[in-house]
Amino acid sequence: MQNEELIDPSKLVPIIPGQKLRESNYQRTKRPYTLQRLTERAYWVESQIYQSTFLIGKKGVMVIDPLSYGRGMNVLKAIGEVTSLPVTTIIYSHYHYDHIGDAVVFAKTAHDLGIQLRIIASSACLEEIHKYKDKVPLPTEVIRTPRGAFDFEGERIDMGTPEQGHSSDNSWVLIEGEGVLHNVDMIHPGQLEFDNFGVGHYIDGYEEALKELLTLPWKIMTAGHGNIGAKKDVHFVLDYLADLRAHTQAVMPKVPFEPFIKDEMMFAWFHGHRDAVAGQVMERMREKWGKYPGFDLVALTHARTMYWEYYLH
Ligand SMILES: [Zn+2]
Repeated sequence: MQNEELIDPSKLVPIIPGQKLRESNYQRTKRPYTLQRLTERAYWVESQIYQSTFLIGKKGVMVIDPLSYGRGMNVLKAIGEVTSLPVTTIIYSHYHYDHIGDAVVFAKTAHDLGIQLRIIASSACLEEIHKYKDKVPLPTEVIRTPRGAFDFEGERIDMGTPEQGHSSDNSWVLIEGEGVLHNVDMIHPGQLEFDNFGVGHYIDGYEEALKELLTLPWKIMTAGHGNIGAKKDVHFVLDYLADLRAHTQAVMPKVPFEPFIKDEMMFAWFHGHRDAVAGQVMERMREKWGKYPGFDLVALTHARTMYWEYYLH
C-alpha cells in the first residue's frame, strides 16, 4: 500500500524484504495454501488467511504455529513441496486455538514416523492452555516469560513475550540467522488493524509491544494474517495509533458528558458520549486513512478503544 514492489508467490525465489504478494488476501483463499520462500531456509505458508513460518534444518523442520481447523494438513503439504525432511519441532506463538489447534495433526504425523515431536511454548502460554483447557498437546519445552531462547539444530531461536499486546501470552519468535520474525495478531500488513486492535483497553501496552519489535534484528515478518510484513508495516500501525491518540486528545475535552444523560438507562449515556467522541475522531482520521481498505469497518472500533484509553487512564 506504500508503493511496494509486488511479486507472485514463489517457493523457489526468496522474497526481498519489503516486497509484498500481489494477490489480495481474498484471491489467495482460492487455493488450499500459498507458499513463499522467505530466505535460504525459512518459508511462509498461508492457508485460508492463517499463516505459519517454517525453517528447514539438516535433519528436520521447525514449524511456528501449526494452525487449526484443517489448515495444519495444508502446512504439512506445503512443507512436502520443498523438503522430504519430517517436522521435528513445533512452536506455539500463543494459546489461541485458531493458531495451534492442529498441533494434534503434527503430533500424530511425528508419532507415526517414530519421531518424538518437540513442542515449544512460553510459560505464559502454558498457563493459558491450562486456564482455558485448550485441547492441544502440552509443550514438551517451556521458555520462561518474558524472554528466552532455545536451540534448533544448532541455531538459536529467540522468544519474547511482552506483558501486553494481543494476549497476555502472545510471543514473538525470532530466527535471527535468517532475519525472520514470527509475531501474529499484532499487525496486519497491507491493511488497517482488526476491531479494537485485537486487544482490550490497554493501547499503551500494545504500542510498547509494537515498538519493541522495531528494536529486534529482523527484516521479514510473518504476521499471522495479511501480507508478508516488514518493519515499515509496524511503523504504519504506530503512525495510525499516534494520529488516533492526537485526535482523541483534541476532541474529547470539547464533548461534554452531561447532554447524554437522558433517561434511566445509564449505559446509553456512555454509549452516547463515547460515540459522539469516536464519531468525530473517525471523521478526522478519514482524511489520511480513509483510503485504506476496511476503514469504515474498523475505524470506529479503534476510536472507541482509544476513547476508553483516555476515559479510564
Ligand atoms: Zn490470537
